[in-house]
Amino acid sequence: MLTLIKNATVITGDAGRNVLYDGCVAVDGTRIVAVGPSSEVTDQYPDAQIVDGRGKAVFPGLVNAHTHLLATTDRGILEDFGFPTTLRFPESARSLLTPDERNIMALLGAVEAIRSGTTCLLEISNDIPQYAESLEGTGLRLALAENVNDIDDAVAQRGAFAYSARKLDAGLLRSVDLIEGWHGRADGRVQCLVAPHAPENCSPELLRGCRELAERYGTRYTIHLAQSHYEVEAVMRTRGVRPTQYLFANGLLGPDLIAAHCRYVDASEIALLGQTGTGVSNNAAIAARRGAAAPIKELEAAGCPIGVGTDNMAEDMVEAMRAGLFLERVRRNDQMDPQPEDVLEWGTRGGARLLGMEGEIGSLEVGKKADLFIIEAMRPHLVPSLRLVSAFIHNGQPADISDVMVDGQWLMREGKLQTVDEDDIVRRAERAGHAAWKRLVERYPEVPLPVNLPPTPAS
Ligand SMILES: [Zn+2]
Repeated sequence: MLTLIKNATVITGDAGRNVLYDGCVAVDGTRIVAVGPSSEVTDQYPDAQIVDGRGKAVFPGLVNAHTHLLATTDRGILEDFGFPTTLRFPESARSLLTPDERNIMALLGAVEAIRSGTTCLLEISNDIPQYAESLEGTGLRLALAENVNDIDDAVAQRGAFAYSARKLDAGLLRSVDLIEGWHGRADGRVQCLVAPHAPENCSPELLRGCRELAERYGTRYTIHLAQSHYEVEAVMRTRGVRPTQYLFANGLLGPDLIAAHCRYVDASEIALLGQTGTGVSNNAAIAARRGAAAPIKELEAAGCPIGVGTDNMAEDMVEAMRAGLFLERVRRNDQMDPQPEDVLEWGTRGGARLLGMEGEIGSLEVGKKADLFIIEAMRPHLVPSLRLVSAFIHNGQPADISDVMVDGQWLMREGKLQTVDEDDIVRRAERAGHAAWKRLVERYPEVPLPVNLPPTPAS
């Protein structure tokens, strides 16, 4: 079926950053078949179904290059008590979810993602096949990666470092299972990556094993890098080099790697990441909550493609882009750089490039997949609509987003989710989140929690 979104402001997000006024996007099946002035495109497709775009703007869909959907369980708590969170909490509540609850919390994250204009996200977690089908059913474009590490936790709790061959094997096996079960599913809407967790909890054998696995299956790979002072100190103590150098020595850097965070990288590491063309996910909102800021402009200047991720406890890509702009200006005491168009590019084509999908998604151009969102531009915080990209990046809200399309399918239409029962998910997620935290308190009665939990809601 052919659909025309016409008489809209079209933010193409193409290399020239072109904006069309009274523009039109034509979608046939899963792909964009025309982008241009409404009068011209309408003439070409007289029988198309029309979406009236007056007072609206069409954007390329947002690509979340790093997230953990189940961390929605820990929302409202783990943002505020430091990192690593295990310094304060014996484990995360998300690790105590039942399989049913994991499905619900993943769907909750997906709903929030869709409502913030996300059309593609990279989900990193363990045992993803448990909820992959739920996620696929949302219609989102998915990149899935099993989180693996091989540190011996019992030894690590005593401050030493030892690695477990059993964990290494099990982790790689989980990765293989995910890839074999899901890579390329849903007509290619699902892809898989390999995800060694972080330099401080992965042995050289695991890093090399992950790289080989990715090569064998032709997938990309991702890792948390320079996320905490703890990580930098631990790697320097155990490996004698900084985390980025440790990854380089084990063959992990390069354009197939998405390095998330990169907060505490020094000049030599920035150069190494740039020279190897390693992709970086800028997770600015969670970084700000951790009192940190990654040197994104320096990484970009060195040669790293930049994407945007939300990471933990939130799926709001509108906020993540805005935080990326704020944090870079504050960190560098710069009033003009980055510009809103720069952060929108990180959140769209940048993320697409990180996932190896720049030819398919990331901008509104003929031949690309129809992944897009529409905003109501006639809002008190957005008018006058003179420079909508700036207005949206500085003042926009997920609530401005009325419609979201992936692969030519509406996931949200006129403010209503089309593929899932949002009210039911929110209701069940509220119960699941409370239940998981109650379990944590019961399991560790001797550990003082820095929060007073409310009573669990009745089911
Ligand atoms: Zn993460």
